[in-house]
Amino acid sequence: MDTARLPDPAAAERLRADCGNCFGLCCVALAFARSADFAADKKAGEPCRNLAADHRCGIHADLRTSGYAGCTVYDCFGAGQQVSQVTFGGRDWRGAPDGGRAMFAALPLMRQLHELLWYLAEARTLRPAAALHREVDRAQDRIEALTRRDPAGLLTIDPAAERAAVAGLLRQVSEAVRSQVPGRRKDRSGADLVGARLKGAALRGAGLRGALLIGADLRDADLRLADLLGADLRDTDLRGADLTGALFLTRSQLNAARGDARTVLPSALPRPAHWPA
Ligand code: SF4
Repeated sequence: MDTARLPDPAAAERLRADCGNCFGLCCVALAFARSADFAADKKAGEPCRNLAADHRCGIHADLRTSGYAGCTVYDCFGAGQQVSQVTFGGRDWRGAPDGGRAMFAALPLMRQLHELLWYLAEARTLRPAAALHREVDRAQDRIEALTRRDPAGLLTIDPAAERAAVAGLLRQVSEAVRSQVPGRRKDRSGADLVGARLKGAALRGAGLRGALLIGADLRDADLRLADLLGADLRDTDLRGADLTGALFLTRSQLNAARGDARTVLPSALPRPAHWPA
């Protein structure tokens, strides 16, 4: 019997950034250095100069043309609204006795937990990995419980340990899915492929987990069912590439890459707004 279930729409929604229910935390808590992605330096805990009093970005529609492309790549996986509305019960960092320090410390921790939930939610939809779904459920329940901790409880979490605990399970899920691909599958997990010329490469079902693909040319490549968990896709050229069923790909990775109207994406992921139509 096929025990796979459809993605839970409420869970999927919870893992999407909802800036209207967040106090602009990523625009305050995180540090960034002046670079091609950020037009100015900013220390952690210091509000970005473009952050308005209503917690909205004053240049939201013009981020890329204003030198803040990095902001369009960042994805909190819904951690911002969880910290704002659940962990801190809707209390704004502005006016908090500690100046918001506890909230700012909570955000990166929560983001890492939500990212793991994103991967687990995807794993739960993959029918070839149905034999692992009960284990996936248990991992989801455990991480969900961590996200409900109070501020002090959150700070005791070791995100690296949580990531390591889930990594093996996700690897098994990936293997179960990619074993459906006939023939020999390439494994370039963790490989340094910066700037690699891979135009038209046959990478169906390949292991590209953690691979450095910065600036790589993957135009027209066959990346169907490739495992891209944690792959660095900054400036990777995906024009014309086929990513149907690609595993553990995130909005953030796509937003950092280049694509076009011919790029075929996994059904759950939206086409980045800045890609040409
Ligand atoms: S530029 Fe806008 S989105 Fe980026 S950190 Fe500043 S306020 Fe936030």
